[in-house]
Amino acid sequence: MDMGITGKRALVCASSKGLGRGCAEALAAEGVNLVLNARTQGPLEETAEAIRAKYGVKVVTVAADITSPEGQTAVLAVAGDVDILVNNAGGPPPGVWSDWGREDFIKALDANMLTPIALMKALLPAMMDRGWGRIVNITSKSVKAPIAVLGLSNSARAGLTGYVAGTSRQVAGAGVTINNLQPGMHATDRGLSLAHKRAEDEGITVEDAMKEASAAIPVGRYGTREEFGAACAFLCSQHAGFIVGQNILLDGGEVNATM
Ligand code: NAP
Repeated sequence: MDMGITGKRALVCASSKGLGRGCAEALAAEGVNLVLNARTQGPLEETAEAIRAKYGVKVVTVAADITSPEGQTAVLAVAGDVDILVNNAGGPPPGVWSDWGREDFIKALDANMLTPIALMKALLPAMMDRGWGRIVNITSKSVKAPIAVLGLSNSARAGLTGYVAGTSRQVAGAGVTINNLQPGMHATDRGLSLAHKRAEDEGITVEDAMKEASAAIPVGRYGTREEFGAACAFLCSQHAGFIVGQNILLDGGEVNATM
């Protein structure tokens, strides 16, 4: 299927690895030119070069912490007016409800709620003026089904989801869609770090922790960044203009719910 977005320009945050990279590659495969971001220059440049070589699209990079005001300013200065925004950042650390104080919550809210909101506020006006735009926020299945050890993530992402629910309806008439993708377990550095934590907590090997996690997923395995990226590219396509304010689970059926 032709996604109809060849020649568009996308900002994909936190995209040198993992799910962000999956989204960047899937957009590049559709001929979308990219602005990529991550904190660490080396892997970011390697990813950019690999994408240029494979897909022949233009790729510029900004090494910056997207969760800091300075990082956002630097990224936005290079990005200019983009047609597509994919919001992403690292997830908060795991823990127990009694561990977390005000500063922990402020940090999580900054990273996983206020950063995507700031970038949407900065980029929405030009998208609306042009009458076309696509925004995809990478959130988590934890918005739908809480993961107890990720209470900081559950809280911050629920806040973002509430903001998107209303805002997406306010901007849809100008041709801009905003939707959230909710990843379940994926085989990325982040996914593997959670397997390490589980192994440590339960005194088992990482392989056994991954087998246990996979057994709870009807598909029987972790998701891949390529599968995730393909869903993102579809939401950014011309065909997805009637999908507004949705939260789409990519979890292999793990969340056991009728709707
Ligand atoms: P990952 O494999 O660890 O990759 C994270 C990417 O984001 C890297 O490119 C990293 O590069 C970049 N990054 C992290 N913090 C950043 C920051 N502050 N500013 C700019 N770039 C940053 O993680 P992932 O699995 O793709 O996860 C992406 C998001 O999805 C996270 O929020 C995670 O919590 C959420 N999620 C993941 C899963 C899963 O199973 N993988 C499930 C549910 C939710 P640098 O380190 O160089 O900055």
